Amino acid sequence: MANSSIATLITAQHAFFKTGATRSISFRKQQLKRLQQLLRAHEDQLYEAIYADFKKSRFETFTSEFALLQQDLDDALKNTKRWSAKTRVATNIANFPGKSYLQPEPLGVSLVIGAWNYPYLLSLGPVIPAIAAGNTVVLKPSELPEATAMLLQNLVAEYFDPEFFTVVTGGVEVSTTLLEQKFQKIFFTGSPRVGQIVYQAAAKQLTPVTLELGGKSPTFVTKHANLKRTVQRLVWGKFINAGQTCIAPDYVWVEAAIAETFLELLTSQIRSMDYAIENGNYMQIINTDHVDRLLRYLEDATVYFGGQYDRDERFIAPTILTDVTFESRCMQEEIFGPILPVLVYDDLKDALEKTSQLPKPLSCYVFSENTNEQHQITETLSFGGGAINDTIMHISNPELPFGGVGKSGIGAYHGEAGFKAFSHTKSMLKRANWLELPLKYPPYSKRKLRWIKRLLKL
Ligand code: NAD
Repeated sequence: MANSSIATLITAQHAFFKTGATRSISFRKQQLKRLQQLLRAHEDQLYEAIYADFKKSRFETFTSEFALLQQDLDDALKNTKRWSAKTRVATNIANFPGKSYLQPEPLGVSLVIGAWNYPYLLSLGPVIPAIAAGNTVVLKPSELPEATAMLLQNLVAEYFDPEFFTVVTGGVEVSTTLLEQKFQKIFFTGSPRVGQIVYQAAAKQLTPVTLELGGKSPTFVTKHANLKRTVQRLVWGKFINAGQTCIAPDYVWVEAAIAETFLELLTSQIRSMDYAIENGNYMQIINTDHVDRLLRYLEDATVYFGGQYDRDERFIAPTILTDVTFESRCMQEEIFGPILPVLVYDDLKDALEKTSQLPKPLSCYVFSENTNEQHQITETLSFGGGAINDTIMHISNPELPFGGVGKSGIGAYHGEAGFKAFSHTKSMLKRANWLELPLKYPPYSKRKLRWIKRLLKL
């Protein structure tokens, strides 16, 4: 799309927003229902596109993308009216007689930039709260899964008025042009590196941002873990989407006393899951650049399990690395693929000390039935969110705001948190006129000050 047409499109969205049409709750719900219809009516086409992009199966697309989108849509349809309503809060004595309340309002024209790894969930997921909160939306999905990006563009054009919601496709150039425009909200999902670029562009116009970034999410397995459950939930959370998940367990710390047993159980669990692209239990890496990047991690560690790959087929088998140190290549950056380094610790304190030297991650997982250990880990480390005795499932609860901290992100969404991310809350005081205590007005006097102190109990 030419720069001038992007500018025209955004001008049209500003004009549409100014009409006030999106202020109506019924308009917002109507648009959310339209999105629901789009997803239902074109389910097969959507499955075909994502399969064309990286052979993601219907099963995994449904469980890890559509089910969450449908849940978010249902939640927003049910609660938009309540979330948009004014809420009363207490009023202090200085404002007697009066009422205080919070009044949400939409921010305006919003830009959503998506990542490639869950192309439907990460593109449409933020659009749902943007609509629920009464904004217009320009969505720029990642350019890497080409078929899904094109399909989203066509379907959204078919279902929505571009002045309200539109998809703009393209890569860095298009993103850069978009970021030069005036938005009232930018919601970005992607790498910390590009997150910084987005933040800088937003700063020029003081545009509020939500940055959903990544990081190296650690997992701790202590000798008090239920190992059978641990490997089941850990292996599933790591290798779903072939490890291309922002909250995937990036690496594992295991207590020395159980390391050998853990590794044996881990490998037999991987075998039992029958990971293969042909049977739909597994999928491709997004492109060969990422295959090459991932294979470099195998060069300076021991491949304990897996390691098989087919570059042309963009396949890398679930792989376990051992003899890993914090200096190993796989510990220098977020893995974002089906490779799991396992590090061994004797003293949990040392493992925590080492872990906290890395930037704050998006998630952290603790496998232990010992509450002291659970506390020790979750209180020592800073991270976006996480789970005890599970991996990645916290993302599925709309009551848990989802987002990072430090280098893993700014802000959060899902459920009401998403609505808030796309809203401004006006803090309002409504005074009554039937009484006025003239204490605060000049001429000031010692007597007035004494009364004020007495009333304010200061
Ligand atoms: P990315 O940062 O490369 O790209 C994200 C988006 O930014 C894409 O739409 C891309 O076109 C655009 N972009 C790329 N370069 C740009 C530039 N110079 N200027 C403006 N826009 C640009 O990220 P990715 O490779 O798509 O995704 C992987 C990363 O995203 C990982 O770090 C992962 O952890 C993170 N991630 C986070 C979440 C989350 O919810 N927190 C979810 C998925 C992925």
